[in-house]
Amino acid sequence: MSKPVLGIIGGGQLCSMLTIAAKKENIKIIVFSDDKDAPAQKFCDQFICSDYKDEKSIDKFTKNCDIVTFEFENIPFETLNKINKIKPVLPKPSVNEIVQNRLSEKNFVNKLDIKTTEYVSIEKKSEISLNQDLLPGILKTSTLGYDGKGQYIINSIKDIDSIKIDFSKNYILEKLVKLKREISVIITRFNKNEYEIYEPIENVHEDQILKKSKIPAEINKEILSKSKLWTTLIAEKLEYVGTLCVEFFIDINDNLYVNEIAPRVHNSGHLTINAYNVSQFENHVRAVCNLKRIKLNKISDAEMINLIGDQILSYRNKKLRNNEFFFDYLKKDIRPKRKMGHLTILKK
Ligand code: ADP
Ligand code: MG
Repeated sequence: MSKPVLGIIGGGQLCSMLTIAAKKENIKIIVFSDDKDAPAQKFCDQFICSDYKDEKSIDKFTKNCDIVTFEFENIPFETLNKINKIKPVLPKPSVNEIVQNRLSEKNFVNKLDIKTTEYVSIEKKSEISLNQDLLPGILKTSTLGYDGKGQYIINSIKDIDSIKIDFSKNYILEKLVKLKREISVIITRFNKNEYEIYEPIENVHEDQILKKSKIPAEINKEILSKSKLWTTLIAEKLEYVGTLCVEFFIDINDNLYVNEIAPRVHNSGHLTINAYNVSQFENHVRAVCNLKRIKLNKISDAEMINLIGDQILSYRNKKLRNNEFFFDYLKKDIRPKRKMGHLTILKK
């Protein structure tokens, strides 16, 4: 059978890395992005730049691809549904519907008897006063948040008058967890009970943005197996096809909570490019294109450092050691808090 043409919605660094992985398999990539400067256009075979709701562009994109996937979850649901009527979208759009909204996402997880932080839906300011048992807490926009955007830390009820909150949006209020560690587990599911799972990755955030990831995570055996089990259960229940990441919190008493689900390849998994025989990106492409599953093998322990804003500059001309791998996302502009590249260090 000839190799399919894969369409990817979104054109950021995750898309670039998916595209590079697809090239290894001789799979052609068409990227559909609303950003004329999308870095992935430098790697793909065809680039369609338009608003994600533009009918003509959706039609053109759909016609030219055999299978469609995406690099970020906040794509208009109607767009995914429209494409899915003609060409398969994987993971399926109903997954996005659940995960795009923090409230439905947490409800879904709790129904599986998996623990999340305590939370409540907030539509108006007065509702925060009624839920003071969740303070100190974090108020998060229910949709469209990433890298800590749309989040407000509320230590006590006195704070809410001094913080400017846009209540035209819906929020959830989450109790602040006394964090010991954060981990993520990445799985690639091919079919029912057919998957490859990476070992838990330990993550360090600065200003709610991922700064570092490493394997192995410093966790006990129980958390190791529970986090993998919960991730597998979530992927199975979603009938997921492709790579998925579950972010977890571990509190100071070693309780495990699901923080959120990313229905896509994930920043914490960049180290899989160098530390495993098959990366999260290659595995995603293999799963959505229905290629053979390859048994995962870890090659090395590793650490990944995100290069944020102008931190990228000193790496561009730096001489690297044999165990260091530098990735420049080739973004047009350097901006504060923007992920510009990363460095992976293998630790034999
Ligand atoms: P995003 O969608 O921006 O990744 P997250 O909900 O994952 O949003 O929050 C980003 C980071 O903020 C988390 O990785 C964690 O470090 C911190 N954080 C978020 N919610 C909580 C919480 N309830 N308790 C403690 N820390 C939190
Ligand atoms: Mg997160």
